[in-house]
Amino acid sequence: MRGFLIVLLVACGLGASASNKVLNIGLFWNNEPSEVTVQTSLGSYSIYGNGKLILDLKESAIVRILNQDGLIHVRTITQDLGTFYNVEIKRTVWGSSLKIQPKGDRELHEYNDNFSFKPFQGKLRIVNEVYIEHYVAGVIEGEAGIKEPKEYYKVQAVICRTYALNNRRRHEAEGFQLCDKVHCQVYHRRSMNNPDIVKGTQETIGIVIVDSDINLVTAAFHSNCGGYTCNSEDVWSGYLNYLRAREDEHCLQENHSYWRTAFTRDKWLNYLSVSHGYPVYEPTARDIALDYCPDERQHYLNPDGFRVHFKRIRYDLGLQSAFFSIDAVQDSVILEGHGYGHGVGLCQEGAMNMAKSGQPYDDILHYYYREVHLVNLSVIDFFRAN
Ligand SMILES: [Zn+2]
Ligand SMILES: [Zn+2]
Repeated sequence: MRGFLIVLLVACGLGASASNKVLNIGLFWNNEPSEVTVQTSLGSYSIYGNGKLILDLKESAIVRILNQDGLIHVRTITQDLGTFYNVEIKRTVWGSSLKIQPKGDRELHEYNDNFSFKPFQGKLRIVNEVYIEHYVAGVIEGEAGIKEPKEYYKVQAVICRTYALNNRRRHEAEGFQLCDKVHCQVYHRRSMNNPDIVKGTQETIGIVIVDSDINLVTAAFHSNCGGYTCNSEDVWSGYLNYLRAREDEHCLQENHSYWRTAFTRDKWLNYLSVSHGYPVYEPTARDIALDYCPDERQHYLNPDGFRVHFKRIRYDLGLQSAFFSIDAVQDSVILEGHGYGHGVGLCQEGAMNMAKSGQPYDDILHYYYREVHLVNLSVIDFFRAN
């Protein structure tokens, strides 16, 4: 099957459909501004009010856009350009970028491509209509930082692209596809601080992860698995054949692979009893709750008796992971844990170390996601159309 897909990948070229190439991202989601200033950073832009050209945005010119009485006002320093129910800012050359600064916000927000502004609950609904590869590079810089090797950025680009296309109906009711927060993927600006991020995105252009039915996968990832990843159904409700538990030695030297925390014995037993009804007065159950040291990742405390899901304990107590041992020392109970995050899918710190040691991005993805295929978007279009 993989060979067949590779042939198709070559045969189809890079001609993905337009719907796969542009994403509509809701900017400043859940914190929408009522007033912004906009300024061309690269290239050039034109501003349209209710569909009509109202201004060519010259370099260094600053324009204020604000919601007043439910309509959008557009002003330069010297001129009032009018009141509209819909304002668009469109690039006139490829590669343009625009700075959008909400009033009172000092963080830099600069994005590629086009924008629309609509009134929304006394504020502005700002949507960035962005070429998917520009979006992917911006997300990678926000989520993976600027210090990783290029091969790792290629891994993250494929995951980010797959996630974005798989979730593009998530905010349909709000008039865009994905938000710019961690709810979808963090996207606070275009990528501008490490050219390897843009190169890694370009070198995997259009590549996504699909299962054997050519459906986009749930490309789950987490910070550090602590030595073992998890099956999807052990953490969430659904079984997914490509999200399987596996041993992973690549992340064990990282700081996140180990954590430690302590409680008083009373607090620990009281928590298990009150929150879960755990039988702390029953000697065998109590012994297990005070002395537990698994060889590999398990999912329940006391699995053969009254069992408690470790993921619940993690959630309740705010632990780094649901993978830990328990040891009672005098009046204290010490939890020693492995990893950071839910443990399903790709382990980011493991993948970073694989990339640093020279492993190619596709091998890294196949290491963490079982029985999947890396294909160009045009292959999906081909299958959907035939
Ligand atoms: Zn979202
Ligand atoms: Zn790992």
